[in-house]
Amino acid sequence: MGRAPVILWFRRDLRLSDHEALCAAAASGRPVVPLFIHDETVETLGAAAKWRLGEGLRVFVGALEATGSRLILRRGTALDVLRATVVEVGASAVFWQRVYDRDGITRDRTVKTALKVAGIEARSFAGATVFEPWDVSTGSGAAYKVFTPFWRAIRGRNPGEALPLPASLVAPESWPASESLRGWNMGAALDRGAKILARHAVVGEAAARDRLERFRAERLEHYAEGRDHPARQCTSGLSENLASGEISPRAVWLAALGDWQAGRPGAEKFLSELGWREFAWHLMYHAPDLDRANWRAGWDSFPWRGDNADAERWRRGMTGEPFVDAAMREMFVTGRMHNRARMIAASYLTKNLLTDWRVGLGWFAECLTDWDPAANAMGWQWVAGSGPDSAPFFRIFNPRLQAERFDRDGGYRAAFIAEGQAEPPRTALEYFKAAPRSWNLSPGDRYPTPLTDLAASRARALDAYRGMDAAP
Ligand code: FAD
Repeated sequence: MGRAPVILWFRRDLRLSDHEALCAAAASGRPVVPLFIHDETVETLGAAAKWRLGEGLRVFVGALEATGSRLILRRGTALDVLRATVVEVGASAVFWQRVYDRDGITRDRTVKTALKVAGIEARSFAGATVFEPWDVSTGSGAAYKVFTPFWRAIRGRNPGEALPLPASLVAPESWPASESLRGWNMGAALDRGAKILARHAVVGEAAARDRLERFRAERLEHYAEGRDHPARQCTSGLSENLASGEISPRAVWLAALGDWQAGRPGAEKFLSELGWREFAWHLMYHAPDLDRANWRAGWDSFPWRGDNADAERWRRGMTGEPFVDAAMREMFVTGRMHNRARMIAASYLTKNLLTDWRVGLGWFAECLTDWDPAANAMGWQWVAGSGPDSAPFFRIFNPRLQAERFDRDGGYRAAFIAEGQAEPPRTALEYFKAAPRSWNLSPGDRYPTPLTDLAASRARALDAYRGMDAAP
C-alpha cells in the first residue's frame, strides 16, 4: 500500500500554492492523481458560474501540466466517480479541501463515510476560508450573528504562514484517461455567448496573484474612500478568483494584514471586506438554509410578491431607473456587479418592487462569474432585512439619491446605458449584443420610463413592513 497513489480531488480550489490537501499529498511521497469531477454540484451551477469554472479548469489543466502532472476530468456523481477511480488507479487515499455549504457538506460526508467503509483513507483539509467556521465563536462558544463582534474577534488574527508550492508531485506509473473539457461544453447555458464575458474575466492562479499585487500597488490607498463609487474601479476584483479558489484567502488576508500593520491607508478597510467574506461562510455553515429561508423566521409572514413581470423588467435592466439598470446590465455584460450597485439593485427589487429576495438571489446566481453561495445569500438577506445584522427594512435606497452620491458625473450609468447617447461606449452597446433576441432590445430605442414611482413604492413597502408580525 506504501506507493499506492493519493487521489487529490479538486473542487472550487483551483490553485497550487497554499493548498493544504495538495501539500499533504505531495509530502506523502506517493504518486498523486489530481482529479476534478463534473458532479452533482457542478450540474446545478448558474450559467455564468459554470462557464467561469470551465475557464478556470482550462487554465488549471495547463498549470498542472507545467509541473509535470495532469488534471483528470471525469463526469458523474462524486461518489461513483471516486469509487471507480480509486479502483482504476489502485489508490489508497483521497484528499480534498473542505467546503461549508449545505450541498457540499452533504456530498462530502457521504463520500467520506463510503470511502472509509471501503478501507480508503479519506482526509479533508482547511483552506476555503481563512478561519474555519467553527474556529470563531463567542465567549459562550456560540456562533456570531452580528458582524462587528465577529470582526473584532478575527481582525488581528494571524492565520499562520501560507504554504509554499510543493517542489514536485510524483506522477503515477500510468495516467488514467481523462474526459475532454471541451466535451463538457461549460458555456452551453450562456445564452449571451462566452465572448462577451471573456473580455472581463481574469482567470487562473498567476493572474489572480498579479491582480492582488497590482491592487496593492495601485488602488489600495484609494480603496477606503473610492470603493463605493462604481465608476472609479478602486476595488480588487478578486471575488471571482476567491470564488474559484484560484487564490488562497489566507494569502490575501496575510497581504492585507501586513499592509495594515505597516500603516498603509485602505488596508484595514480591505481586510474588513475579507472579514465579510469570512462572516458569510460563518453564517452559512451555522445556518445552512441561508440561501433559501429567511434567517429571521418572523419574516416568513412578509407579503413578498413572487416572480412577476416587474421583476422581469428588473432582470432585463429596463426599470427606467438608470442606476438600477446600469447595475443589471453591468452584470449581464461583465458577469460582475459593483458592490454598491448590488445593494441598490437588490433594494429596488425587494423594496420598491416588493419582490421576494430569493427571486433576485436566483438571477444573481445565474449571471455572476464571482457567484459565491454564502456572500450572495448574506447580501440578499442583508438588503431585504430578513438576515442577521441586516440593514433595517426602513432604510430603503433611493437609486437617484445614490446616483447623486456615488455616480455624480454619471460615468457608471453612461458605461452601461446606451439609449440617449450619441456615441455609446462598447460596454453599453455590448448589452444589446448580449441580450437574448426574444427581449427585442435595440440601443436606438427610447430609454424606458420609470416602472414605479419611487416615493409611492417606498410607502407601500413600509406599510407592508408595519403589517408584518416581526416588525418592531
Ligand atoms: P473588494 O472590495 O476588493 O473586496 C475584497 C474581497 O472581499 C472580495 O473579493 C470578496 O471576496 C470580499 N467581500 C467584499 N465585500 C463583501 C461582502 N459584502 N460580502 C462578502 N464578501 C465581500 N460577493 C461574491 O463574491 N459573490 C457573490 O455572489 C456576491 N453576491 C452579492 C449579492 C448581493 C445582493 C450583495 C449586496 C453583495 C454580494 N457580494 C457577493 C459581495 C460583494 O458585492 C462582492 O464580493 C464585491 O463586489 C466583489 O468585488 P471585489 O472583489 O472588487 O471586492
